[in-house]
Amino acid sequence: MHDLNQILQKHFGFAEFRGAQREVIERLLGGHSTLALMPTGTGKSLCFQFMAHVQKPGELVLVVSPLIALMQDQTQKAESTGLRSSFINSSISGDEKEKRLRQLADGKFNIFFVTPERFKKPDFWEVIQKQKISLFVVDEAHCVSLWGHDFRPDYAKLGSVIEKLGKPTVLGLTATATIPVQKEICQSLGLETEQGIVTSGIERPELALSVQDIYGEEEKFQQMYDIMKKHPDQSGIVYFSLIATLENFGRFLQKHKYTYLKYHGDLMPGQRRQNQNQFLRAKPGETTWMLATPAFGLGVDKPDVRFVLHSEIPSTLESYFQEVGRAGRDGKPAQAVLFYDEDDVSIQMQFLDWAYPDKNFILKVYHLIKDNYDRVSQQGFDFLREQMTFKNKKDFRVQSAVSILARWGCLEEVDSLFGYRALQEPAESLFTQENQDLLKKEHQKKLLTILQWVKKTDECRMKRIYFYFGHYIENDCGVCDVCTQ
Ligand code: ADP
Ligand code: MG
Repeated sequence: MHDLNQILQKHFGFAEFRGAQREVIERLLGGHSTLALMPTGTGKSLCFQFMAHVQKPGELVLVVSPLIALMQDQTQKAESTGLRSSFINSSISGDEKEKRLRQLADGKFNIFFVTPERFKKPDFWEVIQKQKISLFVVDEAHCVSLWGHDFRPDYAKLGSVIEKLGKPTVLGLTATATIPVQKEICQSLGLETEQGIVTSGIERPELALSVQDIYGEEEKFQQMYDIMKKHPDQSGIVYFSLIATLENFGRFLQKHKYTYLKYHGDLMPGQRRQNQNQFLRAKPGETTWMLATPAFGLGVDKPDVRFVLHSEIPSTLESYFQEVGRAGRDGKPAQAVLFYDEDDVSIQMQFLDWAYPDKNFILKVYHLIKDNYDRVSQQGFDFLREQMTFKNKKDFRVQSAVSILARWGCLEEVDSLFGYRALQEPAESLFTQENQDLLKKEHQKKLLTILQWVKKTDECRMKRIYFYFGHYIENDCGVCDVCTQ
């Protein structure tokens, strides 16, 4: 038997495993497929990197990830532990892609990252089915769930991919999955629901959660600014539901000569990436406050984020917990403040109305993108909105339709103002599989749940979140606003 701690020390330089890491690795070494639920930032990647170090020569750890933007980063992190690693996604050019496929075929890598769409490409199948896969990793495994907000049809097909690859050991990884979602993941990937799920709980003792009642934007901006002003050389993220509010707050900060970074869907992809990198690399004293929409941060690993502020109430506890989880990854104290203005609830209700466009709408947007490549690339959403003739400026059904199409794999990411090009028309089955009306109702329930969480001030906030995700913890967190009241 391996001395696990010794291997950990040797390749990673860590003295001890964290959370569920050891249990997960022991199961995998025994050949047992596993779904691991580990809080954001506690080291899910280490589980599969570790397995890549101890597999037999010639074997491969294959990691499926939905996050094109992070594959480079994941690859570099694997390499920094001494692994030979690479990745393929739609951002890789033809020549380079072929080269990587050849290297993969020649057994040059211990670990390889791909997006789920890749399994639709014959040239990739050709190569991958000949590899000896010691571990098939499904990162962000909640994407298989129809009820999750991140559902991706290509994730739903991974179960049959795993079968076709001769059923290698599977590791599913996720940070936020309610109990029904956990079951759905297991069924979809062919894992045991009883013993197959390992959870380290979702305890984040360093995170102090609080909710601050607020009336109006002026008061909100002032309070957010007060926190930022007190901590100019620390890192924080301020989340906004609307780009317009984000930009307003940006102007407010400019008036006070306070520098910041921003990340949202109206910036060019290149600019977004640059701002993200600047944030990740910032040293103390450099600009380290990021104003962002929820698009920012999935998988972003910056250990020293000390604050996450929410300018508005998020629409689900899942997204709230995911977002606050980006603070305090180094285990030192961090604060999350949600600014609650009753009026903002109507923003979220309105959001729900626009977030689930119907079939005709989605199809129409798809064809506009397909038939007007140049204009869409240059004018982006403005062109699409104009074509769909909206009177209401806040109506963002077009954006919703585009992100649905992207999730479905009908659009492909490219580097343009718009950021996508048409790939394939959505199949009929997608519309039956994902009923937007039902999803909307489910989402309404979730909004109600987070509202109740915000308003209930007689029980530890962390405890109630754990409970929502199916964990019972004995002790109160001792640091949230309810506990310290
Ligand atoms: P996530 O679970 O969100 O995917 P990552 O895998 O990106 O988290 O890991 C977050 C950070 O935790 C990384 O910087 C990683 O090096 C660190 N880490 C992982 N395991 C350990 C450990 N056993 N001891 C100390 N730090 C660890
Ligand atoms: Mg991760």
